Amino acid sequence: MRFPHSRRSGFHHTAFYCLLSLVLAGVWLPRVTAATQPNFIIIFTDDQGYNDLGCFGSPRIRTPNIDRLAAEGRRYTSFYSACSVCSPSRAALLTGSYPKRVGMHRHVLFPQSNYGLHADEYTIADHLKSQGYATACIGKWHLGHHRETLPRANGFDSYFGIPYSNDMNHPDNKGKPRMASDALWADQETCLTKWKTPLFQNEEIVELPVDQRTITRRYTDRAVDFITANKEQPFFLYLPHSMPHIPLYVPEDAYDADAKNAYKCVIEHIDAEVGRLADTVRELGLADHTYIIYTSDNGPWLQFKNHGGSADPLRAGKGTTFEGGQRVPCVMWGPGRIPAGTSTNAFTSTIDLLPTIAALSGKPLPEGNTIDGFDISPTFHEDRSPRNEFVFYSANGVLEGIRSGDWKYLEKRPRGNRNRAKGAKPVTQTFLFHLGEDLAEQQNRCEEHPQIVARLKARMQEIDDEITANARPVWRKPAGS
Ligand code: MG
Repeated sequence: MRFPHSRRSGFHHTAFYCLLSLVLAGVWLPRVTAATQPNFIIIFTDDQGYNDLGCFGSPRIRTPNIDRLAAEGRRYTSFYSACSVCSPSRAALLTGSYPKRVGMHRHVLFPQSNYGLHADEYTIADHLKSQGYATACIGKWHLGHHRETLPRANGFDSYFGIPYSNDMNHPDNKGKPRMASDALWADQETCLTKWKTPLFQNEEIVELPVDQRTITRRYTDRAVDFITANKEQPFFLYLPHSMPHIPLYVPEDAYDADAKNAYKCVIEHIDAEVGRLADTVRELGLADHTYIIYTSDNGPWLQFKNHGGSADPLRAGKGTTFEGGQRVPCVMWGPGRIPAGTSTNAFTSTIDLLPTIAALSGKPLPEGNTIDGFDISPTFHEDRSPRNEFVFYSANGVLEGIRSGDWKYLEKRPRGNRNRAKGAKPVTQTFLFHLGEDLAEQQNRCEEHPQIVARLKARMQEIDDEITANARPVWRKPAGS
């Protein structure tokens, strides 16, 4: 038998004895005690666009607290959510997998939906809980409102939040107000008189309808309590804010009556609450072993105008596979471990967070559980990413494209083709963009580069075929129950 490294054994012996003498002298000890395991906080806003932070170039919205996290941490400018709508995007973040791999790719869940994320799926919370972390989900879940699919079935010790979107009404999504967004904003009481979204504590409804004006602040209150209670032990806080998904509401002291400022007002309120949370981390002395990741579940809902955000300079927004639908703002903060005031264009995604957090927590992921993410912790210090490709699915789960390096290929079938002129014959539209030269996806280069189109088309099909063949089931409500 041959030992490929045997020629280096002399070096290994020397290194070993050097290390041993250092350890015996008490100079060097590996940091493996539970007390040094890092905490993780993921703040996941809803429908916040690529441009909707001061540190991502917003000309109007002021976000000093999130900008401070960026100044003390790292901005990710090429970071993708795995779908352009809520439920698939959330399933992907927590499982490190494309939504289709975990069966959660078919658009969003509604109050009458009878399925959800399977408890057998291995989530970030499952992984950290297996290491003794305290785990809490505070905010919008949207991966199933049945007991078998709620956060406590998926690795969280506790849950406080709304089970689906704040424009969905319990129990059948009927009776929605016909008022325009500006009118709802003008009368903030409408959150109690026009909507019926429930608030859950674990598996029970504790408020119906939820008072949406105070929801961002109450999530933060709970988050502060959770962090404070667990300051002596490692914790994972998943904080998917319900806002700025429409309808928009804020507390009285944060309210700006001018409806033109509705969205801006909501983001600035989120920013203040993020500041309160980050200050708690700092004041409790946890900054040197806590990571905060701030990002959004998908792009802005442009059709709502002043009630939706901006993906400038990207094309389109929520519900599409153009960059504006899935490239989201992202800030990673970890003083002493993530270099301050830096920015990277490293090609990364929410599906990379599970393996990254696993690597930072020091315990490998279990074998045999196929996922699609990579450990991107090397991108804290360099622009090169382990990710070189990413596939795009439409909001209802149809394969639509791939990014490979700087090239991005999209094909939009007639059903999902909203850009078609009235009366025009439905055709599949194809696009090839070079994101390095054309971030705004304005120059379709399909005709110029047929070989690249053919290569990307074949590759995205190959990836999708593997995912389809190995896709895992969702939880389904048994018939008749
Ligand atoms: Mg969303």
